[in-house]
Amino acid sequence: MPNSNQDTDGPPTHATRSKDDDAWKHQPPYKFQKDFQVEYEANCQCKKIKYQLSRKEPLNSKLCHCSDCQRQHGAPFQWAAIFHKEDINFLNGAEGLEWFHAPNASLEHTLPCKVHCHHCKSPIMDEGKSMILLFPGLIHFKSKKDMDYFNPKCHIFYGQRVIDIPDGLPKWDGLDEKSKLIEDSPEDIVKEYEQKRKSEENDSGKDSKKVKL
Ligand SMILES: [Zn+2]
Ligand SMILES: [Zn+2]
Repeated sequence: MPNSNQDTDGPPTHATRSKDDDAWKHQPPYKFQKDFQVEYEANCQCKKIKYQLSRKEPLNSKLCHCSDCQRQHGAPFQWAAIFHKEDINFLNGAEGLEWFHAPNASLEHTLPCKVHCHHCKSPIMDEGKSMILLFPGLIHFKSKKDMDYFNPKCHIFYGQRVIDIPDGLPKWDGLDEKSKLIEDSPEDIVKEYEQKRKSEENDSGKDSKKVKL
């Protein structure tokens, strides 16, 4: 998804750096969790980064057509599955990972950030403030049923697409539920969200809620 600069503080400078700057390495999603319930295992292309997942079904799964994803992934769109930070267990913690915070092109761990394998550069996930967006291509699915849990539920930023995908799924111009449904989105869902938007406008004026990842 496009990067938004939600941070008011810049990355720490060497002068202000302290031990606490590494505190995030000991919290999810990087904290190593013992007795982790393993539902899936995954690895990057070079296998230096390995992780496990404890949740069978992602919170959501989307195809993002935004130009940032096109640039970052070298692909027409990105497939991402959303999980809580506690749902993932990197077997080597933060070791071997690298970060990219697009708003100021920083390599520090500043949220939201892109996370890659330091060695083979495979995109591992996008880390937001409260959620992670994983790229399911890294996961070893043991059955078709498991893979079905990750089926995309909608297309987002479809207005920026480079190719039409006539699959009957809802297609949002921008963020899901925060923009207009366009193209071949199912009619009943289009009507449902039109009504929802109208009643929200009546209830709370013109302020729209912002999505935080
Ligand atoms: Zn995107
Ligand atoms: Zn790798």
